[in-house]
Amino acid sequence: MKKIALHWQILIALVLSIVFGVLFPSKVKYISWMGDVFMRALKMLIIPLILSSIISGVTNIKSKENLGRLTFKTFLYYILTSTLAILIGLFLVNILIPGKEADMGLAQGIEEIPIVNEGFSQILINIIPTNIFQACVENKMLSIIFFAILFGFFINQVETKHSTVLKDFFNSLFEVMMKITLFVIKFTPLGIFGIVAKQVSNSPDLVQLAIGLGKFMITVVVALIIHACFTLPVISKFIGKINPFTHFKNMSTPLLTAFSTSSSNATLPLTMEAVEHNSGVSNKITSFTLPLGATINMDGTALYECVAAMFIAQVYGVELSVFHQFIVVITALLTSIGAAGIPMASLVMITVILTQIGLPLEGVGLILAVDRPLDMLRTATNVWSDSCGAAIIAKSEGEELNV
Ligand code: ASP
Repeated sequence: MKKIALHWQILIALVLSIVFGVLFPSKVKYISWMGDVFMRALKMLIIPLILSSIISGVTNIKSKENLGRLTFKTFLYYILTSTLAILIGLFLVNILIPGKEADMGLAQGIEEIPIVNEGFSQILINIIPTNIFQACVENKMLSIIFFAILFGFFINQVETKHSTVLKDFFNSLFEVMMKITLFVIKFTPLGIFGIVAKQVSNSPDLVQLAIGLGKFMITVVVALIIHACFTLPVISKFIGKINPFTHFKNMSTPLLTAFSTSSSNATLPLTMEAVEHNSGVSNKITSFTLPLGATINMDGTALYECVAAMFIAQVYGVELSVFHQFIVVITALLTSIGAAGIPMASLVMITVILTQIGLPLEGVGLILAVDRPLDMLRTATNVWSDSCGAAIIAKSEGEELNV
């Protein structure tokens, strides 16, 4: 019998999980463990994978100039695409004005959302870990990445007899982590079946939400679609000279996983595998750009934060001047960099924007009910942008890709 391709298996699992969640909500407890096991397995991979991939990636970049050039290109791409995403969101939210007819009655309490009081300078300072092991335990991605880049860079500065041992060690560690990743990937359809069925059985009445907050949802969805299906493919095609359709097909497994898990961090092992093995980007580029991308390049999140903050202002009847909208854009960009690649991370960051422009934090309660479905789409957009970035940068470095 011909084997069904993995992305089809995942799509079938997605459809079946929705049917199961709707028809048998009380039976979901018998299958939700599959999702828990899958998520735990993915999370188990993240720290050793990020450490080994960045360290081996950086040591494989031969000269300081090359590392500098790669860092520059990577950050340029991240800032450019996130800003474009925000501007698309800002444009649509000003045209459609979704806050005009929103149903205030759908607001929920926001007790469970932690409020961020740290200023940007403190967030930057905190990137330097005081204890790298604690940073690993607490999943402080930026600190881990910072340490890994530094460590990889200085491996190349020591005597050959030392650097060879460490290079071999981290290259081998990385190979093993990728092998485990390949093994875990085989279970994606089962994991997604468990995760989505549980999500569907827990979700509030979508019809009622669609009536009350429909315009907000449409604004976010249309903006995300424009960014993912137009802006990023155009950049990939004309700047990166890659075929966005083939690349999209190659990325189907991580994209569907990002959509189902709402976590770009958890999806990272699958993203790395697909960008390297399907699209043919070198290990040197994937190991440097993708862990960084999963942590700081969040186009979907940036767009969502901007639309959500503007929406909340509209609901409260606050007219935001061009200057205030500019502050929203800048804050959305910075907070998307700081947002973690985990479910609902945006909600926390929106409180930062609301504080900046003096709106009540309870405004976040207005969008709480619709956050999850929108999180699925913005996470997929985040991962799609990371993968396009890796391919574009690889191409600009003269690599031969399969796309
Ligand atoms: N869930 C998103 C991600 O993991 C972050 C967010 O909440 O926007 O990429």
